[in-house]
Amino acid sequence: MVPTDSNKNNKKPTPMKKISVAFFLLLTVLACKSPTETKKTTGSPKDIHDKAILVDTHNDFLTQTMEKGVVFDTDLKGRTHSDLDRMKQGGVNVQFFSVWCDGNQIHPFHFALRQMDSLDAVVKRNPDKIVEVKNTAELMEAVHQNKIAAFFGVEGGHMIENDVAKLDSLYQRGTRYMTLTHNNSTSWATSAADETSPQGGALNSEGKKGLTVFGREVVHRMNTLGMVVDISHVGEQTFADVMETTTKPIIASHSSVYSICPVPRNLKDDQIKAIAKNGGVIQINFYSDFIDPDYNKNKEAFLHRHQVEFDSLVQAGKNVYVAEEWVFSKYDQEAQSFRPPFSLVIDHIEYIIKLVGADYVGLGSDFDGIPSAPIGLDDVTDYIHITEALVEKGHSTEDIDKILGGNLLRVLKANEVY
Ligand SMILES: [Zn+2]
Repeated sequence: MVPTDSNKNNKKPTPMKKISVAFFLLLTVLACKSPTETKKTTGSPKDIHDKAILVDTHNDFLTQTMEKGVVFDTDLKGRTHSDLDRMKQGGVNVQFFSVWCDGNQIHPFHFALRQMDSLDAVVKRNPDKIVEVKNTAELMEAVHQNKIAAFFGVEGGHMIENDVAKLDSLYQRGTRYMTLTHNNSTSWATSAADETSPQGGALNSEGKKGLTVFGREVVHRMNTLGMVVDISHVGEQTFADVMETTTKPIIASHSSVYSICPVPRNLKDDQIKAIAKNGGVIQINFYSDFIDPDYNKNKEAFLHRHQVEFDSLVQAGKNVYVAEEWVFSKYDQEAQSFRPPFSLVIDHIEYIIKLVGADYVGLGSDFDGIPSAPIGLDDVTDYIHITEALVEKGHSTEDIDKILGGNLLRVLKANEVY
């Protein structure tokens, strides 16, 4: 693939507008607002979208690089959900790049560093489009310069290899949240998958569900460092222990609503209320399986029809997520036929707004980590449709700004130590 022209597809620069919105946000996020204050929608959805600071807290492109060797600053339309130019076209201002490996990786910490290195190379080649940042001041500077501000989010506490010194290193490297578990538990925190396993999943090293003493130490260390605690993927007991332990607002970097779609790692109403009380934010995951309660049976039937190919990929050494994605991509037309409607994603956002208010919801797409998203969310150029739908629902510009990124910036700032 030929690298794309560095100026092509850049959004029309609106630095002054961006920065004024940004300052407004930073000034207002900590202020108490009167509930009776009049809120209005001002401007077209495109105007609102362009002026907002759009934050996505979960993109798995770096895993695509590790698994398939695809390069972010090349044209990958039709092959991946994301590439650099499409991300800019979509209006993304801040991207948390997920750093992930499964629980079977022998040296997960070094794997994490290699994955981070792959983004460094992209950033070096494209200094006019994307920059790695370490705090909200640098983030604002990047937005002002019309560049994507990139952070790392480490997905899975197993990547610190039971060593808080490695947590420190990941922080130094630009990690600003860590998801305490992936689907696999660590010895110090149990995952949603294990806590709900009908066969009785793994327990922590103290023989219980939830955080161990060391797990609480990890949370404290993250609070001290200024690394946001991410509870996506953790079990309910781990969640409860985190809420009891953390001194800072937390996030769910890529989770949706259990009441609409009851999968174990979506969030129940009491968890959503607890996050709101903590001042945190739930970033809605676009995965069809976490959005649509009817999706799973169609997906299972689909995979069953292609079981032989799926099994052979796993036997050949692909992890199950990559094998699944491969089958989805090969039988794309068939997979397209059972994608959920776009409106369901908006239902999840609306549910949280109705339950706890517009201050506690945002976007954590999971693009390039999911084999399917609802119709209308084909790739990173499609965030505008979320803005359009929120305008259509009658939300104020102020609330839409918060949902698109302001809420996450508030949490990031509240965690920051410098
Ligand atoms: Zn995940």
